[in-house]
Amino acid sequence: MSVFLVGAGPGSVDLLTLRAAKLLSRAQVVVYDRLVDDEVLALAPADAERIDVGKRPGGSHNQALINDLLISLGQRFDRVVRLKGGDPFVFGRGGEELAALRSAGIHTEVVPGITSAFAAPLAAGIPVTHRGVSRGVCVITGHTLGDDAVDYSRLANGQITLVVLMGVANRGAIARQLMSGGLSPSTPVAAIESASTPAQRVLRCRLDELGDTEILNPAALVIGAVAALDLNDAEVVAGAELA
Ligand code: SAH
Repeated sequence: MSVFLVGAGPGSVDLLTLRAAKLLSRAQVVVYDRLVDDEVLALAPADAERIDVGKRPGGSHNQALINDLLISLGQRFDRVVRLKGGDPFVFGRGGEELAALRSAGIHTEVVPGITSAFAAPLAAGIPVTHRGVSRGVCVITGHTLGDDAVDYSRLANGQITLVVLMGVANRGAIARQLMSGGLSPSTPVAAIESASTPAQRVLRCRLDELGDTEILNPAALVIGAVAALDLNDAEVVAGAELA
């Protein structure tokens, strides 16, 4: 009786870990999210039960139901794979699922995945850190709720790259707070939609244009000097200011 909380990576089946592929190929039940690709699901045996728990708005109630579902499946089956987009512990609520399963006495293993926070910028040719350009990276949620709201103005730091996940809806407010915290309106921004899938699209703009730029979910926002780079493009690399 085991549940495996498995990171499915950012989209493409090629970015799955070997451990994830092996566990999927032996799964009896696969419980998956909205962002998990069909090609990844296809690695599970044809007769494995597939359960879509893709989150709709109003998440916290759903999360309790998902936890209960995982516990009851864990009590009935030997090999349950809970597939989560990207890495299970990066805004995936994997920690909550792990805690619920462990407190119900169910053996649980967590398998890391490639997070979209790093894979999406890379797909656009953007290194999240780069010598002389960015000394670090901060991954934050743009999905702010009530008292938990992130104070973006305190994250304004020209030496550090910001990667915002779930930030599309609040992109205008995030940009305003970062500028009021001191980030230049001309700070480069890149939005990478559906990274590593056939629908991948990269948009670039300045921070003061972010609110008016149309961006489709799912997308990762990269804010900082590295967002002007495109290491897939030799000319841009040669012309980049690597101060
Ligand atoms: N655990 C996931 C993140 C879950 S939050 C991870 O590690 O990647 C969901 C957010 O992730 C989306 O709103 C979007 O910001 C980002 N995301 C997930 N897949 C993506 C993809 N293929 N391209 C761009 N962003 C993606």
